[in-house]
Amino acid sequence: MVRHSNEQGALIVDADDPIARYAADLPELEPLRESKLRRPVQYRGYRELLESWAALKGARSQIIGRSVKGEPMWMVEFGNRNAKKVSVVIAGIHPIEWIGIESALNLAEEQALDPCNDRRVCFFPLVNPDGFRKVEANLRAGKRRWVRSNENGVDLNRNWPTHFKYKRGLVAGHNSSGSAALSEPEIAAIVHTLDAMVAAGDSIDIALSLHSIGKMILMPWGGLWASPQAREQHVQAAKDVRSRLGRYTIRQVSHWVPGVSFAHGMEIDHLHQAYGATSLLIECTRGELGTLRPGVLLDPFRIFNPKEGRRQGASIAQALDPFVRGFL
Ligand SMILES: [Zn+2]
Repeated sequence: MVRHSNEQGALIVDADDPIARYAADLPELEPLRESKLRRPVQYRGYRELLESWAALKGARSQIIGRSVKGEPMWMVEFGNRNAKKVSVVIAGIHPIEWIGIESALNLAEEQALDPCNDRRVCFFPLVNPDGFRKVEANLRAGKRRWVRSNENGVDLNRNWPTHFKYKRGLVAGHNSSGSAALSEPEIAAIVHTLDAMVAAGDSIDIALSLHSIGKMILMPWGGLWASPQAREQHVQAAKDVRSRLGRYTIRQVSHWVPGVSFAHGMEIDHLHQAYGATSLLIECTRGELGTLRPGVLLDPFRIFNPKEGRRQGASIAQALDPFVRGFL
């Protein structure tokens, strides 16, 4: 059994945790940062990532569904289990955007150290596990590939019910919207879970989805030109987040590139429309694009992810933690 610990005590092993039991059966591969890759990365591969989630103190983990290829979809909850107010944190919808996945783990570590008393914080740590495993396999094989879809070729950030619009991918089998809203098991699992929580009396008032890249704080709507009625509260929350994140740009998704960039069926539209949550999408960092290192433009992983993944993930989490806790 792998034992985890750190000085602050956020990580302790719990062999009965369902994620720990699942991770124990995964192939034991060399950690990516110690691997013999031409260029080891400062990120966790699949098994290591799950082990890190499994080691979080006070986490309540459950399987809410399965991916197309049958990987478990996890929800990991922290905070006062009797609280009705809920924050939702989503990561890994786009499987190459590892800095968002790392930031979500770091936000969960904050919860493990200091859980909320007045709310629950529900994490969906990795929405596209099949794509994530593909990215990891590419890294280990030295293949530079851009991966955005799930195993069915669907962009999981176009498959949510709010403002859904059917769209074929530009290249057949890649980045389509899916045949209908919730056609994909990964998104259906999350939406059904959130719907059940609301039916049971929960109030989902905060939602955060972590992506990369571009140093942007994005607000609904993506699928409509108009702004939501709650525009001002989104702007206030975004400005508050920006005050700690640094030089990030705040935009409504559909106004990003006017007329071109409607994003139909995306998560923040649904989280706001269906549940009333103040919903932000963070495009974390500029990846390695700011560094002018040779070869970056040829390597999608480096475009989407900064070099110091663990360090940057921790500092992004520090900046986002008050939002997740509902300090608006
Ligand atoms: Zn993304």
